[in-house]
Amino acid sequence: MKGSSILQNKPGILFIISGPAGSGKGTIIKNLLEGKGDFVYSVSATTRAPRPGEENGVHYHFITREDFEDRIYHSTMLEYAEYCGNYYGTPRREVEAALAEGHSVILEIEVKGAMQVKRLFPEAVMVLILPPDFATLEARLRGRGTNDEDDIQNRLQTAKTELSHFDTYDYFVLNDNGKSDEAADTIRAIAEIEQHKVKRNADFPDIFFGRK
Ligand code: 5GP
Repeated sequence: MKGSSILQNKPGILFIISGPAGSGKGTIIKNLLEGKGDFVYSVSATTRAPRPGEENGVHYHFITREDFEDRIYHSTMLEYAEYCGNYYGTPRREVEAALAEGHSVILEIEVKGAMQVKRLFPEAVMVLILPPDFATLEARLRGRGTNDEDDIQNRLQTAKTELSHFDTYDYFVLNDNGKSDEAADTIRAIAEIEQHKVKRNADFPDIFFGRK
């Protein structure tokens, strides 16, 4: 998303979007990708099994543990983390290429990976998506009916851990029931604001005076 022609031809912004299971981040990201704005989704690799309806190469690259560890060894992952017993990671090449082409790239990753990316790309924008309260989160997880009790407890515990890193994020966006469109629009607004930050436009005086 470019606010004006002067902001064109710049590297894209890297958006790190996190949120506990049940935060509704998937719906919001779908809205961002399908609606207004120039967002590209980074398809992660994972060792977890596909859920019904998930497609290889679309939702995730579903790979074996051995393959994942091989990728770690060869540093082809921008970041990775273990989450609920499985590896998840971001393939480096696709992300770097999309940014160089000027797209805003969305990484939908958990907090440990988010912190790794922020260290590598300090200009990345970290957004945490949250339901309005913990009770809503639990109700959503139970309402899904796709997770067993152990898994639900595990995910609730993980949500508490994620909240303990609240202050490492740049923005938080509430996703109230039935209001995911508003949450997506808030992220679009954040993207627009970020494009106008002086530090992202340090070369503007040169453009202004025709020196570039
Ligand atoms: P799920 O199994 O529900 O699809 O994802 C579990 C968690 O892994 C979510 O919090 C999701 O954001 C995170 N995740 C997905 N892809 C990646 C990734 O590439 N790296 C990291 N660090 N976390 C990821």
